[in-house]
Amino acid sequence: MPEGLIIKALSGYYYVLSMDQGAVESIQCRARGIFKKKGITPLVGDRVIYELTENGEGTVDEVLPRTSELIRPPVANVELVVLVFSIDEPALNLQLLDKFLVHAENAGLDTIICLTKSDLVEDNTSERQDEVSPSGGELMLPDVVKLYENIGYQVVVTSSKQGEGIEAIFDRLAGSISVFAGQSGVGKSSLLNAMVPGLTLETNAISNKLGRGKHTTRHVELIRLHNGGLVADTPGFSQLDFIEIEVEHLGSCFAEFASYAANCKFRGCLHLHEPECKVIEARDKGEIAPSRYEHYLQFLGEMKDRKRRY
Ligand code: GDP
Ligand code: ZN
Repeated sequence: MPEGLIIKALSGYYYVLSMDQGAVESIQCRARGIFKKKGITPLVGDRVIYELTENGEGTVDEVLPRTSELIRPPVANVELVVLVFSIDEPALNLQLLDKFLVHAENAGLDTIICLTKSDLVEDNTSERQDEVSPSGGELMLPDVVKLYENIGYQVVVTSSKQGEGIEAIFDRLAGSISVFAGQSGVGKSSLLNAMVPGLTLETNAISNKLGRGKHTTRHVELIRLHNGGLVADTPGFSQLDFIEIEVEHLGSCFAEFASYAANCKFRGCLHLHEPECKVIEARDKGEIAPSRYEHYLQFLGEMKDRKRRY
């Protein structure tokens, strides 16, 4: 039986794209009753075995093993998350960026960082760099790029208005299922619209301010890119808390801590005040950025507070 991929789920139907090269139309499928009995709900992003029935419709017979399962948006097999942060409007918030990175690391996803709205900063390659204020703390835009590149993240500076960086993001999305994540108003929809000819996702930060986010009532659908990439049309990680992460695990979600943490004197070192903590030493030597270490402490604090309350 043929293999396919669910690209949309709506009103009890699953829309399955055949894995055959050149498949254009998705096939409207019902799930076999067996799933309900087993307590399995097929998700957008699932690779499935399906069977064609009458009228070009079909049934989903089997869900193949998942490599990942996101809750927001509910998509299976996501490999890549594009963390979208605007350099300005809203101001760059590095604490939130680090929080999203923790989530991406915890979920085991590949990550790229996209810094949008570069047209809002003055020419940042000129000598007047010191006047560029991405308001993300005291760091200037080139410092922010360097900080995260040094950790090992790919950082792409974009402007949907001027077309900068769009191709780099597009190329990175080839061949995998990805989601965009970031605060409302940072330009996620604008980016997708700039990348996909004919796509007209609603763009406007204002609608988000009128109570519920504009995406919350919509179904999820994977947008097909012509390089084979699939992108969720609904942003991810809107719920940002740490309940699902163990305190001891937080440090490993800060990628650059790992090689130091391996040599801390105490097993299970939380890198707080422990003697011979290599993470603290690296911070003191400037090998770990002060902002990263500070955010680590803040998140640790938040997690402990929460534990106390529940
Ligand atoms: P989303 O909520 O993250 O999907 O953000 P939107 O794509 O809806 O964009 C929010 C606002 O930012 C809109 O008013 C856009 O016109 C504006 N915007 C998006 N991208 C850019 C950009 O590259 N430059 C500038 N100056 N504004 C942008
Ligand atoms: Zn330590």
